[in-house]
Amino acid sequence: MARLHLIGSAHEYGAVHTYRFGAQRPLEFAPGQYGHLFFPKLLRQFTKPVREISFASAPGDDEVWFTLDHSSGSPFQLHFQALEPGAQLHVFGIGGHLELPEDPARPLVLIGGGIGVTPFRSILRHLQRHRPQTPVVLVHAGRADYLYSAEFAAMPIAYHRVGREGLADALVGVTDLEPAPQYMVAGSDGFVSGVVEQLRNTGVPGDAIQTDTFKGLHGHDGAAA
Ligand SMILES: Cc1cc2nc3c(=O)[nH]c(=O)nc-3n(C[C@H](O)[C@H](O)[C@H](O)COP(=O)(O)OP(=O)(O)OC[C@H]3O[C@@H](n4cnc5c(N)ncnc54)[C@H](O)[C@@H]3O)c2cc1C
Repeated sequence: MARLHLIGSAHEYGAVHTYRFGAQRPLEFAPGQYGHLFFPKLLRQFTKPVREISFASAPGDDEVWFTLDHSSGSPFQLHFQALEPGAQLHVFGIGGHLELPEDPARPLVLIGGGIGVTPFRSILRHLQRHRPQTPVVLVHAGRADYLYSAEFAAMPIAYHRVGREGLADALVGVTDLEPAPQYMVAGSDGFVSGVVEQLRNTGVPGDAIQTDTFKGLHGHDGAAA
């Protein structure tokens, strides 16, 4: 169990906020992983005081970042939104479903729905520092707002922001790349299953697709149709 303390937060758009935490000791995690976030003081107040949340920062960053969509208004979200600088948060059970390919020359195609791009920020910051030779395409499907867009636009990647109607075409455009890419898809259940189905229909083999499903996320990722 690692202890973090809140340094500050920023409003991104709508009900989406990014939180910056400091850690007593460097936190061990791999790029693209998530942790179970837990407020021990809330154990008696909530039936479920734990949430799985992706690391938006990279291992080795000075701060640990999480971005949350508070739109459900659940007690956990209301508590998080009211945190003041210095507030304590515990993280345990770190794990993940996204794993970088061994070959740094293999292209990566990252496809995120709405807030599903959080693990991709972690991965992209890691790649910039440790594997700048990896070719990356990022397809971000959203409604009107695109999380971290200024930071992604400044990265040496092919960055495509699409709406619901542009997603299918964008996916067709990333299925004929050479050498064969590793695909990573992250977002709500509906978004991930829809994108995987489209990729498979265009001939992408199942073992070239990794998924990170934000189970429990309310349907705000913009392209879940
Ligand atoms: C790997 C992973 C990474 C995630 N990363 C992020 C992130 O970076 N940012 C973010 O905002 N959210 C993320 N989520 C979603 C987050 O864990 C919460 O589920 C979400 O924020 C909803 O919590 P809530 O308090 O708003 O809603 P609640 O009202 O508590 O839950 C909404 C609904 O979803 C159901 N539900 C909640 N959690 C789960 C679950 N784990 N499995 C199945 N059903 C569930 C509840 O029963 C309820 O019906 C991630 C989830 C996973 C699994």
